[in-house]
Amino acid sequence: MQEPSDLCTLHLDRFKAEPAIFAAPGRVNLIGEHTDYAEGFVMPAAIDFATLAGISSRDDGKIVVYSENFKEERVFNVLALPKTATKHWSDYPMGVVHILSGEGQVIPGFSLSIWGDVPLNSGLSSSASVEVATALAVTSLTGITYPGPILARLCQRAENEFVGASCGIMDQFISANGAKDHALLLDCRDLSFKLAPIPESVALVIANTMVKHSVAGGEYTTRRAEVEEAAAVIAQHRPEVRFLRDANLDDLARWGAQMSPSALKRARHIITENTRTVDAADALIHHDLARLGRLMAEAHISYSRDFEASCFEADTMVTLANDLKGLIGARLTGGGFGGCTINLVEREEAEHFAEALGASYTIETGIVPQILICHASDGAHRVH
Ligand code: ADP
Ligand code: MG
Repeated sequence: MQEPSDLCTLHLDRFKAEPAIFAAPGRVNLIGEHTDYAEGFVMPAAIDFATLAGISSRDDGKIVVYSENFKEERVFNVLALPKTATKHWSDYPMGVVHILSGEGQVIPGFSLSIWGDVPLNSGLSSSASVEVATALAVTSLTGITYPGPILARLCQRAENEFVGASCGIMDQFISANGAKDHALLLDCRDLSFKLAPIPESVALVIANTMVKHSVAGGEYTTRRAEVEEAAAVIAQHRPEVRFLRDANLDDLARWGAQMSPSALKRARHIITENTRTVDAADALIHHDLARLGRLMAEAHISYSRDFEASCFEADTMVTLANDLKGLIGARLTGGGFGGCTINLVEREEAEHFAEALGASYTIETGIVPQILICHASDGAHRVH
């Protein structure tokens, strides 16, 4: 793992100025998939893999951003901030600068060095961790700081409006507001949230299938359209239903025949997933790990069969995990069609579990997976 003191040294060498250092974690979603844009519930946890951002001010009117991961520097002028993305990693920090400037913040010159150990492009939200770390760093210079939920919304806007990625609020929210040893049940409608304790005896084991099927982009769009179609059918009968968050299984029994068969299945996933996600938080709060494990198993089946967002590799990873000692619950996490599974595992079995899962996955698929043993961590903060 990267150390703040190493980033401090690196920043000092490069910019000849002592940085203030901020950390923002990546995340894993324990349950609640594709529910965010239906104004439903998600329950992620921040993980102990993070992006560090070191910042120091400059008096030459320049913004210089450096990424140790990419070993590359970009220079901007505070009087001519970029207004559009360039399909470069610097879009993420500069998107945040763009949004903060649009909020009326006067952006001074600064040097920013970033360095993360959240695996990039693996569905653990390295992008949100860069945005949130940057936002904390830059606002420490402007002096206008924001509460975590508002900071998260600004970073989401940087990704939606500047980078051009249509992510929901979850990633930035948990990176900004996560709490050590807790999952966070987030109501995507009003951003109210509740922390649910993860017992010390439980490890979060993230298993990367190492595949991302290229259908993912297009399928995301069709899934969203199907979810909206289902909500629209129900709304014809019950106008108060604006999103599937407001619908229930009775609605599907009555009016499901008026939807396309796939819209009906997608809606069944969203409606049952919302219930499962709220139940899962309740199970954690009541230390009922067996119930939590059952809910995760049901969530995977629903995601795979009704939402049809799994794939051979992810189903294999979950099936193999189900046979291993120490497993509490396993499911595919993230947008689908590959990416990572999340396994809740008894901590004392975690090392052995990870080894056995990796070996059997390689035998079944011929692919060597990346497996990370994580713990729920604090959200973004200044590092002293
Ligand atoms: P994910 O968020 O799942 O990791 P994304 O595609 O949303 O995947 O975001 C990954 C992108 O975020 C990287 O390709 C890069 O542009 C940017 N990024 C993440 N971490 C860093 C970093 N440490 N330095 C520079 N850019 C980063
Ligand atoms: Mg991302």
